[in-house]
Amino acid sequence: MATRSASGRRQVPFVDLRTPHRALRAEILDAIGAALDSAAFAGGPAVESFERDFATYIETPHAVGLGSGTDALRLAYLAMGIQPGDEVITVPNTFIATTEALSQARATIRFVDVDQQTSNLDVEQLSTAIGPRTVGIVPVHLYGQPADLDAISDVGGSHGLWIVEDAAQAQGSRYKGRRVGSHGDVAAFSFYPGKNLGACGEAGAITTKHAAVAERIKMLRDHGQRAKYYHEVEGYNARLDAWQAAVLRIKLHHLDEWNAARRRAAEYYRASLADLEMIRLPYEPEWAEGNYHLFVIHADRRDELRDHLTKAGIASGLHYPLPLHLQPAYAHLRLRRGTFPVSERLAQRLLSLPMYPDITQVDCEYVAERIREFYGA
Ligand SMILES: *Cc1c(COP(=O)(O)O)cnc(C)c1O
Repeated sequence: MATRSASGRRQVPFVDLRTPHRALRAEILDAIGAALDSAAFAGGPAVESFERDFATYIETPHAVGLGSGTDALRLAYLAMGIQPGDEVITVPNTFIATTEALSQARATIRFVDVDQQTSNLDVEQLSTAIGPRTVGIVPVHLYGQPADLDAISDVGGSHGLWIVEDAAQAQGSRYKGRRVGSHGDVAAFSFYPGKNLGACGEAGAITTKHAAVAERIKMLRDHGQRAKYYHEVEGYNARLDAWQAAVLRIKLHHLDEWNAARRRAAEYYRASLADLEMIRLPYEPEWAEGNYHLFVIHADRRDELRDHLTKAGIASGLHYPLPLHLQPAYAHLRLRRGTFPVSERLAQRLLSLPMYPDITQVDCEYVAERIREFYGA
């Protein structure tokens, strides 16, 4: 919800994590109270109930609750059997959690540039990136917009590759009518507070159609044990907190309604900005129904526009300002500027506008007006 500053000026925040909790406050506090009374804090019935509900929601047989989206990616890769020296394909314009767990498993990251319309993996470039050591592909559903999963599976399948969906931003998005997270071998979800389904702290999950993969991830999240103190392998402490599971289960009932509100806000932006030639609006292919985790435009004179919005009391974000291959963390990959021209150009032009379920039509129109004003339109 927009507020006014002390000077009476309109303020539009980038996200609003307070308003959705107001209506759910009593219910959430009750659930936390019940968890406190049961004293089942790590795992237990609250986690199992959420896992069942989330699997049903994603329309997939199995969900396993984990400590974060980063844990979900890590355990997904390990469950796929990733080995040192294996090569895994993903995109450079993502959050570093997508690739951290690849390097940390001593696998090699093989970046493929993105399509300039969708900002997602460019399937045309996929075949040429596949080599003898390639074992898997990690499509990222960036901003909650689904990657072209069938096209990616066709290429991956013909080479015997696994697919781990990075669905951290895409809770509820649909690809050809089916939820993302139900297409690949495994999908990793984050419930970081700012995601469309957010915990009140850190949390994540995987979904999978393979029972054996779900079982393996349950074992890995709990120190490699299936029976207490009998360790099949060295594992991790990557369990989901019972409190977070209880909160997530309540919030899951509202996710579709929140995503629908975000889609409405996206329509307000589109209606007010469609004729502006200096910006490009998010592209949604006919097979995609995104959850509008972020509403990202591509803008001429992006930095000046951003300053203009800031001065008008409008917060915005950059997702992401520097592609991964140019990050200091990946200097050792020796991928120079110019290697992934589409990702690099998008990074100069992208701008994430305020987006959250409670943003109003008036807020969106105010943001659009200030953008039009900047371009003299
Ligand atoms: C948020 C996010 C993650 C990491 O999730 P955490 O829960 O913060 O560990 C991974 N990938 C992408 C694309 C994300 O946006």
